[in-house]
Amino acid sequence: MCTNCNDPGTENPGSQSAEHLGRVVTRRLVLGGLAGSAVLLGSGGPAMASPPLASPSKPDNRPAHLELVLLGTRAGPPIDPYRAGTASALVVDGSTYLVDCGRAAVTQYVRAGLSLRSMRAIFLTHLHADHVADYYNFFLLGANPPNQLGDNMPDHTDVYGPGRAGGLPPKFGGGDAPTVNPASPTPGIADLTNFCHDAYAYNSNVFIRDTGIRDIRNLATVHEIALPDVGANYQNTAPTMQPFPVMQDDKVRVTAILVPHGPVFPSFAFRFDTEYGSVTFSGDTTFTPNIPTLAKNTDILVHEAINLEGFTGPPAIIRHQVTSHTPVQKVGGVAQAAGAKRLVLSHIADLTQDPIDARKWTAWAQQGYGGRVDIGEDLQRIQSGGSGATPSGGAATGGGGASGGRDTGLLIGGAVAAAGAAAAAGAYRHGRKTAADGVVEGVDHAQ
Ligand SMILES: [Zn+2]
Ligand SMILES: [Zn+2]
Repeated sequence: MCTNCNDPGTENPGSQSAEHLGRVVTRRLVLGGLAGSAVLLGSGGPAMASPPLASPSKPDNRPAHLELVLLGTRAGPPIDPYRAGTASALVVDGSTYLVDCGRAAVTQYVRAGLSLRSMRAIFLTHLHADHVADYYNFFLLGANPPNQLGDNMPDHTDVYGPGRAGGLPPKFGGGDAPTVNPASPTPGIADLTNFCHDAYAYNSNVFIRDTGIRDIRNLATVHEIALPDVGANYQNTAPTMQPFPVMQDDKVRVTAILVPHGPVFPSFAFRFDTEYGSVTFSGDTTFTPNIPTLAKNTDILVHEAINLEGFTGPPAIIRHQVTSHTPVQKVGGVAQAAGAKRLVLSHIADLTQDPIDARKWTAWAQQGYGGRVDIGEDLQRIQSGGSGATPSGGAATGGGGASGGRDTGLLIGGAVAAAGAAAAAGAYRHGRKTAADGVVEGVDHAQ
């Protein structure tokens, strides 16, 4: 069960201690409609049905019902000056759903023109630092008095992420390994959140008294994702399985599947089904049949990739990469097996060349795949307006460039143009005039 919202289900191996749970606001998941009968556009993979989503009568010519914004596309913890850490936003009719919060995610979110107030929920695929480094910053920095754009986090955001792993792997090559915080060596997202509350207590307490900011402990409702009973644990991280429900609201239905990501447990891939199409995020994963299962006939598959071809490095690094990630030369086959209409690579790294050669990567990723491939760029936007996925006005779509993310100014320019088309949805704030005015001010083009 979800240990923080008392949702019925399989007991999560990483169940929560009472003293921590007492400080995480609990709320029941809204999953009651999953037994309905309607089939959503773009679904067909997960053997699930659901009731129709809200807002079925909106006109087709409204722009950007569904938009994917790649906030950061860099794989791994190393600080890349050309790419921000991994994070993606999915905007559905003006509500924003964030998938992962890597390095600089909160800054990239605002640079993309996304409204903090539009944040509906945050989804964390797993608890590696390159996926959570900026998670708490959305509340620590983004929920204080409004920024110069008059924007800050809403009073409530749902957070969905892993529970405790329940155990640690042995040290590669044998021998002893030091353990950080042996009293709680495998914290889940509820622990992580509460530890952050404690670590930043002085900041919060001072600001509450000095400027009257909201109590940060009340801003997020943390849900540790309940796992189905498939025998998964930290020693059997991703057995072959069917997707399972995570959440549903009036705009999205989110399902998940476990993916093999080295010793990390749990590690999730997420699929978002909406009235306007579906977007599936692989999370961090090596090759697995679970991705084609989850992503079956999806409109957009956002998949991680690395290039190891030509790399010679320490055995531990090579082993980690092979067991944790998907070679770019194989990712096209995954998209083909899924029947994905479009493949977008994000969370990418080339261990032999930096920045990434997008032309070379496009050729690699296209192997065995008949659909369109995008080598993702920071702040790239991909829209679906109800008549199928269309490229955004951004300069980086198509994967034909070889900028490796250097042309940030151009990318932001494209992003702002796209924001103009979508501002009516209410998710965007950029400068003192909205993008809907056709004039956007206050955008920082500095690197
Ligand atoms: Zn990662
Ligand atoms: Zn990872």
